Amino acid sequence: MRSNSTKKRILPALFALAAIAGLLWMTLKHRTVTLDSGSRITMGTFARIVVVAADPQQARDAMEAALEKIYDIERRMSDYDPNSLLSQVNRRAFEAPVAVDEELFEVLAASVEYSRLSGGAFDVTIGPVVQLWRKAKITGIAPTPEQLQRAKESVGYQNLILDTENHTVKFSKEGMFVDLGGIAKGYAVDKGIEILQKAGVKGGMVDIGGNLRCFGTPANNIPHWFIGLQDPASEENILAKLKLDDRAVATSGDYRRFVVIAGQKHSHIINPATAESAQTLSSVTIIAPTAIATDALSTAVTVMGDKKGMALIESIPGVEAILIPQGENPIFEKTPGADQYIQK
Ligand code: ADP
Ligand code: MG
Repeated sequence: MRSNSTKKRILPALFALAAIAGLLWMTLKHRTVTLDSGSRITMGTFARIVVVAADPQQARDAMEAALEKIYDIERRMSDYDPNSLLSQVNRRAFEAPVAVDEELFEVLAASVEYSRLSGGAFDVTIGPVVQLWRKAKITGIAPTPEQLQRAKESVGYQNLILDTENHTVKFSKEGMFVDLGGIAKGYAVDKGIEILQKAGVKGGMVDIGGNLRCFGTPANNIPHWFIGLQDPASEENILAKLKLDDRAVATSGDYRRFVVIAGQKHSHIINPATAESAQTLSSVTIIAPTAIATDALSTAVTVMGDKKGMALIESIPGVEAILIPQGENPIFEKTPGADQYIQK
């Protein structure tokens, strides 16, 4: 009798204990910390990394490693720094083939691919023209048509010769100058994400100047990574919330970086066909699996305009676009697949 009543009391207590232990285990298993790097200056803009991990030390180590990778890419691929590997290529590759490291080779090969894919709207050899406009930004005097014409003659990705076997770069035209400004930020974002994933953290986000990619468990215990799509007329105004999981997004906008020369607004994106700034769209947002794709394609579509740009994006599986033409009221032109990313 007595043992039976004890049993009756012990059993529910055991069940309750097991349930508590189970709950505790579940909570510990899913417990995460979120670490935010805040703004870091790199590649002529701001970078930010968010890491979601089970362990604070793991989060810190992963973040530091990812940041170090980004700084390292900047050191090698900047054309502002005369000592970078890219600057050495720009100085010497017309005379003889220049050997480069695996990553620079990878970016150059991808750049040529996007140049080809966009029919030269994105052109990684736009450097000589960009240099002229950069000078104009400092002096306030626009380049002459003759100067632009001369610079344009040195532009053409077809003249960038990549030797896959020896990892060398050769220019087949004099005066060539490679500018990775439209693609290196995206590449660095992908490399940062790769480091975070290899470190085994649960989730993360890397953003370099509006080139952003996220993966895994979102920060702050919300079900998705959400990214605001800014109104081109006012950076504070968010036009839509993009719901992104394991995706990259980039927005090119004429409001972000431009220069006024002789009263005229010039975007920092150049149409290689005219050597003038490309300004038909107010904002171009591209969503794709990788940030190198969104970076290069947002620059390409800015040059191509809405019709040709949309046709290009629709021809690439897994890539979507949201365009905002210039005008008083912002309206969206989207690929059908873009809707799945817009939070209703
Ligand atoms: P955004 O931040 O607006 O997307 P990006 O920074 O990606 O623009 O690209 C602009 C940079 O790319 C310029 O500063 C220049 O270095 C380079 N660039 C400009 N025009 C082109 C082009 N047609 N093709 C490739 N690169 C370009
Ligand atoms: Mg770009």
